[in-house]
Amino acid sequence: MVIAGPCSAETEAQMLDAAFQLKDSNTSIFRAGIWKPRTRPGNFEGVGAIGLKWLQTVKCETGLQTATEVANANHVELALEHDVDVLWIGARTSVNPFMVQELANALAGTDKPILVKNPVNPDLALWLGAVERLHKANIHKLGVIHRGFSTYDKSNYRNKPEWQIPIELQNQFPDLPLFVDPSHIGGRRDLILELCQKALDLNYDGMMIETHPTPEKAWSDAEQQVTPERLKEITGSLIVRDQTAEGEVFNNTLEKYRTQIDSFDDQLLQVIGQRMSIVEEIGFLKKSQNVAVLQNSRWHDILKKMVDQGEKENLSAEFVTKIFQAIHQESINHQERIMNQQ
Ligand code: PEP
Ligand code: MN
Repeated sequence: MVIAGPCSAETEAQMLDAAFQLKDSNTSIFRAGIWKPRTRPGNFEGVGAIGLKWLQTVKCETGLQTATEVANANHVELALEHDVDVLWIGARTSVNPFMVQELANALAGTDKPILVKNPVNPDLALWLGAVERLHKANIHKLGVIHRGFSTYDKSNYRNKPEWQIPIELQNQFPDLPLFVDPSHIGGRRDLILELCQKALDLNYDGMMIETHPTPEKAWSDAEQQVTPERLKEITGSLIVRDQTAEGEVFNNTLEKYRTQIDSFDDQLLQVIGQRMSIVEEIGFLKKSQNVAVLQNSRWHDILKKMVDQGEKENLSAEFVTKIFQAIHQESINHQERIMNQQ
């Protein structure tokens, strides 16, 4: 399912221009932000309630369903009054249980679909907590939107995807529709296609893509919006893959490879266990001579050597570093336990 439309409603003409161009695409829901949660004051903060009338015009003239963000009870009241079809809760709101509860109370019993964006910080419990507050208010048409997570350090992304978080959410709640918002993850229009494809490969149910008739002139999020033309190209070139396939050869081959993977996993754990028993011997030795658990230079030598070696095995430095940091932490825990044994 594709949700598309501008970051912000700007003028009625801009909305209708976008909507008419999207009408003959595979977009089924037209989005536009009416109230904009801006990180710092002084930027365009949305047109306000007048934009809800423009959304009604879009629905009436194009037949597209409409969606907007609500962040307090007053927004909810106005959005319901103007019969917006789908409401979403933004990342700066889902982070706050007081606001989510206020929204849940205002929305109680509605049969409108409500989509919950992940909170700005990478906290699955907080995300699920927001969904639960709505569910407890008897709202049953629920879904979630993955829009990435804020980080202090600069990365390729505006908001780091941290794919493991929505994957875990999907594991726990396989029936909850999951959307990707590649616009806010990427922060750049050239990343949108690959982010959408990745989401589809992870069995997401749909996407919300910011689409503007003249993206570079947009009043908010200009760098990440695409034209309706580009949106059609993107959605047209995405490959939707099946969960499974029929056919004996396919399934036998898959089974064969999976058996091999299971066997490697067993070996990995065995080897790590063996490594850990040597680590423990070293722990006893250090304890006997009253030597500290951590020798920083040794640890940096190991890490550097493994990152170099990993490269030859086609493993990224990021991956090798993560694995060895985890192994090293576990080793320290083992040695600490030995040091502190009476
Ligand atoms: C938006 O969808 O325009 C928006 C403000 O998103 P988020 O809440 O993900 O920042
Ligand atoms: Mn935006």
